[in-house]
Amino acid sequence: MGDTHQPRVDYFYDASLGNYHLGEGHPMRPHRVRLTHHLVVEYGLYKHLNVFRPKPASRADLTAFHSDDYMHFLNQITPDAAKEELDQMERFNLGADCPIFDGLYEYCQTYTGGSIAGAARINQQSSDIVLNWAGGMHHAKRGEASGFCYINDIVLAILELLKVHPRVLYIDIDIHHGDGVEEAFYLTNRVMTLSFHQWGGNFFPGTGHADDLGSKSGKNYSLNFPLRAGMNDAAYESIFKPVVEKVMAHFAPSVVVVCCGADSISGDRVGCWNLTIRGHGACLEYLKTFNVPLLLLGGGGYTIRNVSRCWCYETSRMLNQGIPDTIPGHEFSDYYAGNDYKLHVPISNMENENSPAELEKIKAKLLTALSSLEHAPNVQMQTGNLGTRRNPAGLFDGDSDDEDEWEPNTRPHRTQRCHLAEYYDEPDAQGDLLGTDRPNREFDEPPSDEEHL
Ligand SMILES: [Zn+2]
Repeated sequence: MGDTHQPRVDYFYDASLGNYHLGEGHPMRPHRVRLTHHLVVEYGLYKHLNVFRPKPASRADLTAFHSDDYMHFLNQITPDAAKEELDQMERFNLGADCPIFDGLYEYCQTYTGGSIAGAARINQQSSDIVLNWAGGMHHAKRGEASGFCYINDIVLAILELLKVHPRVLYIDIDIHHGDGVEEAFYLTNRVMTLSFHQWGGNFFPGTGHADDLGSKSGKNYSLNFPLRAGMNDAAYESIFKPVVEKVMAHFAPSVVVVCCGADSISGDRVGCWNLTIRGHGACLEYLKTFNVPLLLLGGGGYTIRNVSRCWCYETSRMLNQGIPDTIPGHEFSDYYAGNDYKLHVPISNMENENSPAELEKIKAKLLTALSSLEHAPNVQMQTGNLGTRRNPAGLFDGDSDDEDEWEPNTRPHRTQRCHLAEYYDEPDAQGDLLGTDRPNREFDEPPSDEEHL
């Protein structure tokens, strides 16, 4: 994929996703992915994409990271039964933030299927950029849900990439710390995680201090940039570019996975930053200049009319397609009426609480950590343990029995680098390729989506 030719861009979407509902008043609304898809279709972007309907992730796919008992529970629990199973609900951190709703397991299988299949497409060198806006559930842990995330499709996609790629870079521009992904790969130097996030006070999840740099073989392979409220485009660019540039030079990943959470843009219902959609998208455009395959996954984003704007715009940028600022008229146009049907929306006048001096200090800390790495390593990497960080900061009391430790190194199929054909012998392993002249437009719309504009 060079500047001279068009990247091959794959796009995973299932029309059922928008029908799932986490409950009245819950900020996570899968409907936002349907809104995004409608914009992608209405702007004609689908003509330039390979549109796939993901094959649902299997139980075996999910237990490559998640524990059997957690997956078993998630598969069989119903909203009614949840009221009777309070102990188990608490054990798996289900309930308030992560409620049980109708179709929960199928919802997880669908968004996760897209991320894993997207990774497989990159492994096969069939795609330069893969988009799965329904994915990016970066908070889920091996044995518990967290922060609206049940299955960590990012960890599962990275595990898939590690079958082929010696080093995977994970970048998280969601406003929240990418704690589930960091924890999964805290001890390995084969995955570098780099998260930019709001930190301090009671802001969720509370992890991601700049001093948390990984440990054992993974020392200095987990990077965290904690930030204050009001981040704007200029401040974000001033830290993102130099850190990423040095990461690319010193870690030299052969693939980059991004959590593109849109709760970092201005006006988010949960977030407290002030990025424009262009500023958010500029991060992805910058990553694209390195000509390394990109797996772009959704993440958070709670003012859903702006989430769809953001991810549609980013789809257009990945395709090098200019699109007009006026959103084409379509059945969900009402969402965009409040801003005169424009794609780009003004930011607020909130103060940026990040001082240049503080940003410089943290940036210097991360650049120093990167300097300590072997420059562009080309020797055999120590694989370390791709395992969960046990009991970080005493957060996971009562879950420290070693037999429960996730140890993929004992499972040879995940650590051997094998010929592609051993893994991808099914022609339809990635799901159904939908012809781009037949966009996935037959939606099962719910009769009434009571969205608050
Ligand atoms: Zn978030």
